[in-house]
Amino acid sequence: MSADSNKTMTAAFKDLLVNIGEDPNREGIQRTPERAWKAWQHLTSGYSTKAEDIVNNALFEEKYNNMVIVKNIELFSMCEHHLLPFYGKAHVAYIPNGKIIGLSKIPRIVDMFARRIQVQERLTEQVAHTLMDILKPQGVAVVVEAYHMCMMMRGVEKQNSYTVTSSMLGAFHDEAATRSEFMDFIKRELK
Ligand code: ZN
Repeated sequence: MSADSNKTMTAAFKDLLVNIGEDPNREGIQRTPERAWKAWQHLTSGYSTKAEDIVNNALFEEKYNNMVIVKNIELFSMCEHHLLPFYGKAHVAYIPNGKIIGLSKIPRIVDMFARRIQVQERLTEQVAHTLMDILKPQGVAVVVEAYHMCMMMRGVEKQNSYTVTSSMLGAFHDEAATRSEFMDFIKRELK
């Protein structure tokens, strides 16, 4: 990040402290503006990540043409309406069409889109469409289940409701049996 943005953002976080009624020179929070800006840079590092760099040749020719599912991918993001976290799990599946992707690349694609300010709906779609573009598979399915701090700590203050979003492309969209096979798999837990 440029020296200019470091300066501007440190000042902005200091303003925030002043405006909530804090003394920014109080010992415990003197360095909070720098720390907060550093944390924000990490939380939004997805803007400077490219899918091509993540995939980086980890595509392999393979005859396997059944469903591949990566479940329970931890996900942390920031809601774009309140700048508060939302967090939960993503479940991602695809059916290859001659090519498979290195498994660890799928959580990294989720992170790339989660580390931005987001709405859960768009995040879900972006992960699905990116895999569709990269792999040209028979289909992609993404389900995201997340708790939103903006609903839990403020507003309606609901602690137990979470939000589920899904994107079903290709075979997952066209074939009810394929879709329900995926939904059954994500319900089941590893023993
Ligand atoms: Zn929100």
